[in-house]
Amino acid sequence: MPISADSHSDTIKVWDIHGGVHPPENKHQSLGEPIQSAGIPPRLILPLSQHIGAPAAPLVEVGDKVLKGQQIAEAKGLVSAPIHAPTSGVIAAIEPRVIPHPSGMSAPCIILDTDGEDTWIPHQGVEDFRSLDKPELLKRIREAGIAGMGGAGFPSAVKLGGTKAIDTLILNGTECEPYITADDILMRERAEQIIAGAEILRHLVAPSERTVIGVEDNKPEGIAALRKAAEGTGIQVAVFPTKYPSGGEKQLIEILTGREVPSGGLPADIGVVCQNIGTAVAIYRAIRFGEPLISRVTTVTGEACGHQRNYEVLLGTPVQYLLDRSEFDASRCIRLVMGGPMMGYTLPDTGVPIVKTSNCVLAPTVEELPPPPPAQACIRCGMCAEACPVSLLPQQMYWYARSQEYDKLEEHNLFDCIECGACSYACPSHIPLVQYYRAAKGEIRQAEQDRIKAERSKERFEARQARIEKEAAEKEAKKRARLEAAKAKQNTAAKPVSDNDNKSDIIQAAIERSKAKKAQQSDPATAAIERAQAKRSGKAAEETPQEQQARLEKLVASTEKRLESAKEKLAQAEAEGSDKVEAFRSAVTTTEKKLQGAREELAALDAPPATAASSPQDQSAELDPAQAAIARAQAKRAGADAPESDEDKTQRLQQQIASTEKRLKAAEARWQEAQQQGGSKAEALAAGVEKTREKLDAARQELASHQATLQTGRDNNGDAADSPSDDPAQAAIARAMAAREAAANLSETDKLAQSVESLEKRIARSREKLDAARQAGDDTVDALETALQKLETKLSEAQGKLAEAKGSKTPQSQEH
Ligand code: SF4
Ligand code: SF4
Repeated sequence: MPISADSHSDTIKVWDIHGGVHPPENKHQSLGEPIQSAGIPPRLILPLSQHIGAPAAPLVEVGDKVLKGQQIAEAKGLVSAPIHAPTSGVIAAIEPRVIPHPSGMSAPCIILDTDGEDTWIPHQGVEDFRSLDKPELLKRIREAGIAGMGGAGFPSAVKLGGTKAIDTLILNGTECEPYITADDILMRERAEQIIAGAEILRHLVAPSERTVIGVEDNKPEGIAALRKAAEGTGIQVAVFPTKYPSGGEKQLIEILTGREVPSGGLPADIGVVCQNIGTAVAIYRAIRFGEPLISRVTTVTGEACGHQRNYEVLLGTPVQYLLDRSEFDASRCIRLVMGGPMMGYTLPDTGVPIVKTSNCVLAPTVEELPPPPPAQACIRCGMCAEACPVSLLPQQMYWYARSQEYDKLEEHNLFDCIECGACSYACPSHIPLVQYYRAAKGEIRQAEQDRIKAERSKERFEARQARIEKEAAEKEAKKRARLEAAKAKQNTAAKPVSDNDNKSDIIQAAIERSKAKKAQQSDPATAAIERAQAKRSGKAAEETPQEQQARLEKLVASTEKRLESAKEKLAQAEAEGSDKVEAFRSAVTTTEKKLQGAREELAALDAPPATAASSPQDQSAELDPAQAAIARAQAKRAGADAPESDEDKTQRLQQQIASTEKRLKAAEARWQEAQQQGGSKAEALAAGVEKTREKLDAARQELASHQATLQTGRDNNGDAADSPSDDPAQAAIARAMAAREAAANLSETDKLAQSVESLEKRIARSREKLDAARQAGDDTVDALETALQKLETKLSEAQGKLAEAKGSKTPQSQEH
């Protein structure tokens, strides 16, 4: 509600705030003398973080000479502020030092040994700030390292660079904290600079309604000076009753506008920008003279100081240096405080420096600021709640803080607490309430930082995993591309080389082929694969019968082993009820098929077709399968070059029949032996026997056909064949010839019919054998079944051919 109306000449409405207290002001002690320069201490300690936001980053190294006003640390990020050398000198160190902070913590500082010359770096301002546009003004304010000097230290350029519409610009000259007079004396002595700074701020912020300086009514000299300086500028000076903490930003805004900044919000949210009057002076000097923020007015007060006053202090000046100049008596000082008695904090060390936000060093005696009596139990009087300017519930917050119920503290708007200490001041039980709130805030902030850290770690981990997976996928893609390229190259190399082919490609292809050949020769597996491929493509290198036999025997042996092993595994899996039974069963079936194939091949080798043997040497070689095979190959080759005579053919076929009969006998003996032994080899031998029989039949048929042809030729040539012979041998020959003649006279259809008949007979015999084997539980059943299947296939083919021959011959026969 409006409480008063007062201004230089106009009526300015102001509002009261909730709560507040009236502690002893104790301001007069430090206002007896004008501001005095504190001088240049031998060493300055400049923390890299004198503001809210990211610490500045050093631009200098130890040993560097610097000039007054030279930037020695740059802002890092938007919410940050640079640091400048307050005087000329040499950088002595960059190291952690105790800084002015309630925790008494250490932080990185630039240590500057001053040279006493106070030599400025060249610098220049502008006479008329209106000649600079807003971005340029903000840039200069930022480069001057100006941060709020009223206590918080928020970088001014950030605050002034907002985009929200502003109707009211407020300059805070309230200085409500007891003992502190830095702003008061500034108003008294530098009101023109405050107003000049206010005009720059107004130019920047462009408030749509007004610019007002708020001052408590306990500073009449300052108010008068401001009003005088503000004449004709349109800047208002609003005066209101003294009450602590009217100088809090949100409280002053409420006093001057009647509007409350929402919880968690900013003044700009309700169209207000607020700056301290000390900040206004710093901005003025930065724009007008190009001076960075390198000093400030600081009150040194308290009865423990013989000389209480305000100093113009270079930033980085150790507190001890100021105390030395103030006739400080350590024996009388109960505690050294940075700030005022309500919101200040005890300094752990007099070596800590003055920074941009240091408005007061308080050295009270025990009489002046006696230690608080021991805290008593809360009597639930509610006085704390009455004193709270933020309308919080300090008593409840106290209980939650004690029980560390931080979520409930947040629900009770703990972070709206401005730590003014009014509740503690009002508490009749002397409970240090504000200390509980500070500690709780610290805990909550720490927990939040830990959570963020953990989240970032998780994000980093996930990003790393994603990167690894991506790299693996890329690797795989590259590998595939390489393989495809290699295939394409191979295909290209395989093509005939055209005239247009690049010479280097040809050479490369030759190298590749040579490499591949070498690799195949040196690698038995590759060689085996190559043999198999060649076999399939019909390009296999000639393998001697011994090699073939040895290979096949090896193959049968190894396959038998594998089959045994597979059967054992299958049995075990079945016994255990394993889910791999099907897989093992399939493996057994596959291996059995392979074994069967190998045995068949081996059996076939045991019964090779005799194609040629025309010499006695060849006949003797029949006993040696290898020699016989060589002889056959040679004869075949020879036969390809020279036509075979009728006699040679007859002999060859007779020898072939004889040798095949021998082989059939030997194969049948082996088969019977294998059957008696009960080995699995019997299956393969049975198939071999069957094949050999087929070959024998084929050879006999060919011989019969050949002899019939010869007889027909002789008949046609008038050879004596009609005279019968008394020689039985001749008679037998004659019968055979007649039979051959009859066979030779057979048509193709009749031959096929004979073949069908023969096959049917063999099938009948095979079926009998199979039935017998089945009844005996013989292990040749499988082999006999296979053989029978083949015969049936052949019969089917022969029947098909016969039907076809009959179909095609019938019309021709009709024509004849
Ligand atoms: S003022 Fe102190 S005693 Fe009274 S309710 Fe608050 S905490 Fe309790
Ligand atoms: S310290 Fe916090 S709770 Fe206490 S009066 Fe101030 S704002 Fe209210």
